[in-house]
Amino acid sequence: MMTPPPLGLYIHIPFCRQRCDFCAFYLEIYRESRAEAFVRSLMQEIERSGQRHVAANRPVQSVYFGGGTPTVLTATQLTAILSEVHKHFTLASDCEITVEAHPSTISEQGLGQLYRAGVTRMSFGAESMEDGDLARIGRPGAVSETVTAVTQARAAGFTNINLDVMYGLPGQSLESWQRTMARCLALAPTHLSCYALTVEANTKLADNIHRQRSQAPDEGLQIEMDEAAQRMLGNAGYERYEISNYAQPGYACRHNLLYWTSGEYLGLGPSAQSYLDGTRFGNIADLTAYKISLAANRLPIEDRARLSEKEQLRDAVIFGLRLIRGIPSHSLHQHAANYGHAAITAQLFAQQLIEEDGAHSRLSERGRLQADTIAGQLY
Ligand code: SF4
Repeated sequence: MMTPPPLGLYIHIPFCRQRCDFCAFYLEIYRESRAEAFVRSLMQEIERSGQRHVAANRPVQSVYFGGGTPTVLTATQLTAILSEVHKHFTLASDCEITVEAHPSTISEQGLGQLYRAGVTRMSFGAESMEDGDLARIGRPGAVSETVTAVTQARAAGFTNINLDVMYGLPGQSLESWQRTMARCLALAPTHLSCYALTVEANTKLADNIHRQRSQAPDEGLQIEMDEAAQRMLGNAGYERYEISNYAQPGYACRHNLLYWTSGEYLGLGPSAQSYLDGTRFGNIADLTAYKISLAANRLPIEDRARLSEKEQLRDAVIFGLRLIRGIPSHSLHQHAANYGHAAITAQLFAQQLIEEDGAHSRLSERGRLQADTIAGQLY
């Protein structure tokens, strides 16, 4: 009998204390009573979903608490959610369990509680290591809190620590970005995610740019920043394994790798997305509707799309090209044949935006800088 493939579990905590200027995610402003009611609904969702997957004997290889800001919940609430997961799913013995955290929402005691409950990885949203940058993007908190958070996480026992940072922020220069990188490196995280700032519609940042109160990201400067990050992190022994992700050897994020390798994951919580058995589905992005659905004993799934084999291959190609190791060349060529993309694919090779070394195809260094455009062309 074939062993069923492992499953990742994503748990979406939809609360933040306030909205950062650049953020377009679905979220609710944290209130204690809202959070308590949400946790009760989430427990119901875990129980109902678990019944199906335990029956299918699917081991869980990773659990990822994302948001929003998971750590606006108390460590007691987060560990209770994790206990519920243990009760209703079968976790692999080496399961990676990540909690995303805003550095100003954690405490030494809370981190200790998470560590003892089995959390294996903390991911801190640093965003920048310059206070001026944080102020200009309306990001609450201070750099000193990131430093304290990492120190406290280590003291609590965590050895696997990620920092999220962004580049191309208003007023950020190449030099200040390099200072952010250097300060991150001084904290010796095992993993760094470096994202180029994008301006999403209907955000305060978009409005500020429109009113000329803030600068729009400069694409040329972002390219230089990306190159600087690659150089500095490469010199420090980090391996770039995906366009935005760097890790010390052995510390690539197992959960996020599922997204780029057509792995299967189940999303729980409002707006969480899932991919299982060739079907994509998503939960309703509305906290009240989410609670009503679960109170009525219904899973809060809003939309569902079964992918054909061609569509599954298309997604595997488009997401897989984000990986530095690339994808099997035959997959790219088969996808090009399926969708009539042979000419555009040949052109991407001719322009040296995609490169091939026999068995594997990948974005070139230049191609990585245009990854979203290339994904659009190959869709
Ligand atoms: S903390 Fe994260 S999810 Fe919350 S508003 Fe800021 S960017 Fe958005």
